[in-house]
Amino acid sequence: KALLEAVDLHKAFGPTPALDGAGLSVHAGEVVAVMGPSGSGKSTLLHCLAGILTPDRGTVRYRDVELSAMGDGPRSELRRTDFGFVFQFGQLVPELTCLENVALPLRLGSVKRKEAESRARDWLERLEVADVADKRPGETSGGQGQRVAVARALVTGPRVVFADEPTGALDSLNGERVMQLLVTAAKETNAAVVLVTHEPRVAAYSDREIVVRDGQSREMEPTP
Ligand code: ADP
Ligand code: ADP
Repeated sequence: KALLEAVDLHKAFGPTPALDGAGLSVHAGEVVAVMGPSGSGKSTLLHCLAGILTPDRGTVRYRDVELSAMGDGPRSELRRTDFGFVFQFGQLVPELTCLENVALPLRLGSVKRKEAESRARDWLERLEVADVADKRPGETSGGQGQRVAVARALVTGPRVVFADEPTGALDSLNGERVMQLLVTAAKETNAAVVLVTHEPRVAAYSDREIVVRDGQSREMEPTP
């Protein structure tokens, strides 16, 4: 049974619909890649799945609860407790150290500083960037910063990780390593991953691929 499921989503910002019947479902422990050309509706689909954007029509269900039926408060709370996010850039707070950045979601969830920083340090180690713990994001390389961002997305133990072009700013070697670390960590914690990418080498880390075109989605045939 799907953990998160979107059915027949429609969303328009102007005359041309951004989503025109797209859907997607993901199970716990499964990595789904969302591919397709620029402007096809991938990010809009991800934002609807994550409850950041409300579709004009269609349903998004997470563990049998319809997101649009929830109030804004409970929906933000659900995002904080159950979802993790990794974006292409600019997600780390520049004034905080990398360790403080990773500890931040726990601190917002009222975990005590010592405990939060200890768990943050464990995640930095798992992502092989313990050495940048005391640096600020601006003092790290792109690949290190993105590993810190993955650590921050996973530190709360999310059930679903949303990754929108997480390797978009990295060279292919760093991009592949970030994907390996993200997928390994997600599998270990049985988290679902919704991965938006236009790079086939990145999508290759998924279990299933969905292609979005003109706001519609279709499942790719598995390649043997
Ligand atoms: P993709 O992620 O595949 O590049 P998007 O979902 O970002 O595509 O965009 C799909 C379409 O919706 C594009 O035409 C884009 O310009 C439009 N769009 C997306 N978000 C907004 C917004 N907040 N306001 C207006 N138009 C938007
Ligand atoms: P991505 O496809 O990774 O989201 P974009 O540059 O297309 O990158 O979009 C960045 C942000 O701007 C997104 O939040 C998207 O919803 C919004 N956006 C995209 N297209 C438009 C648009 N035409 N008008 C307003 N906002 C947009």
